[in-house]
Amino acid sequence: MSTALASPLAVHGGPKTITRPFARYNPLGAEEVAAAKAVVESGILSQYYGRWCADFYGGPKVRDFEQACAAKFGVKRAVTVNSWTSGLVAAVGAIGIEPGDEVITSPWTMCATATAILHWNAIPVFADIEPDTFCLDPRSVEANITPHTRAILSVDIAGQSADMDALRAIAKKHNLKLISDCAQAPGALYKGKFAGTLADVGGYSLNYHKHIHTGEGGILVTNDDEIAERMCLIRNHAEAVVGDKGVTDLSNMIGHNFRLGEIECAIGIEQLKKLDRQIASRQRATARLTAGLSTLPGLQTPVTRAGCTHVYYMYQMILDLPQLGVSRQKLFEALKAEGIEGLGTAFANIHRLPVFQRKVAYGRGGFPWTSDICKRDVSYAKGICPVAERLQDETYLGFQACMHTLTDGEVDLMIAAFHKVWDNLDALR
Ligand SMILES: *Cc1c(COP(=O)(O)O)cnc(C)c1O
Repeated sequence: MSTALASPLAVHGGPKTITRPFARYNPLGAEEVAAAKAVVESGILSQYYGRWCADFYGGPKVRDFEQACAAKFGVKRAVTVNSWTSGLVAAVGAIGIEPGDEVITSPWTMCATATAILHWNAIPVFADIEPDTFCLDPRSVEANITPHTRAILSVDIAGQSADMDALRAIAKKHNLKLISDCAQAPGALYKGKFAGTLADVGGYSLNYHKHIHTGEGGILVTNDDEIAERMCLIRNHAEAVVGDKGVTDLSNMIGHNFRLGEIECAIGIEQLKKLDRQIASRQRATARLTAGLSTLPGLQTPVTRAGCTHVYYMYQMILDLPQLGVSRQKLFEALKAEGIEGLGTAFANIHRLPVFQRKVAYGRGGFPWTSDICKRDVSYAKGICPVAERLQDETYLGFQACMHTLTDGEVDLMIAAFHKVWDNLDALR
């Protein structure tokens, strides 16, 4: 890197460090092609029936994939759905959320985490996140509990688990249900157990950005048979099934079509076999990246919780701006100009989306917040989650570690690009 000083930054007209785009990550191969072909040749692309009969639970690939997932993650039941967004909706409904119930969740997530709560006319309450792991801060969760709180929807963001011991203790103490959104963390371990399996319900996304995918899709995991059955009902037209199935608790038994097809499940079976390998390759690449970046002053590389593993869907960094003496925007533009793809300066502050700022969701009248079912004035004002807001507005720098295959050579080029920018901070000041 000693030559870096000699060449000007790309943002100032110098040569780019990375001249060719990195290879896109593609976990699909001959196995998925063969699996999908066999399903097409079978003539059965889906074998669901929205009535109480054997096909209520779907066709052979759905069931095989669910069994493989249950075995892999060590849970009693796995339930496939056509997206993890659908999975979150099914989970919130299945645990028995009532209109107006408050569910505490994280602002540092993808919007579906919060809208799954709203979907049942329940009220999302945003607690703040830990300043190093970006996961829900248990102390902020506890501070946000009111007599109306019914559940915690925790997020294993970027690829590692939240503080599940603390969240489980809070849930137990206050008699709350606990859901884990592990969309980004399939295969991550929390003290030897898989992310998602320490809550009442957890699960993973299978959309094409994620570690393993079926185009679109999701997997719910639970050790609770009753919750699993309720999720199956919500997945497949509950209202048409409850009578014949003999279901007496009709709460939240307005169903959907959240069914994942046979082709996707056949592909999912092959993808699941590759999960460990995909995770290992990402862990190897990010370990190399961290070794190369950790010497840079003013840059905090990702922190992994003690006793846990991180599967690096995202590579979350934090800037020490006073130490750097350069704005985040200038650094970002300089790194991007060197040819790094997949960098971002902010992730999400879900409470600051217009739907929450203006409190307009269902209809124009502010339902559910303006309705009698909402028992208090829940605030989404700037300032409710100062840690998440400061990361979003000032100090966060993220790299989408799941976007590329990331060979050693590509990681080394990324490291070289960072070092070049850091060697030239004066030119950015
Ligand atoms: C991807 C993602 C979702 C939504 O998953 P889909 O399968 O795209 O519906 C929800 N939460 C988080 C944290 C995600 O990353």
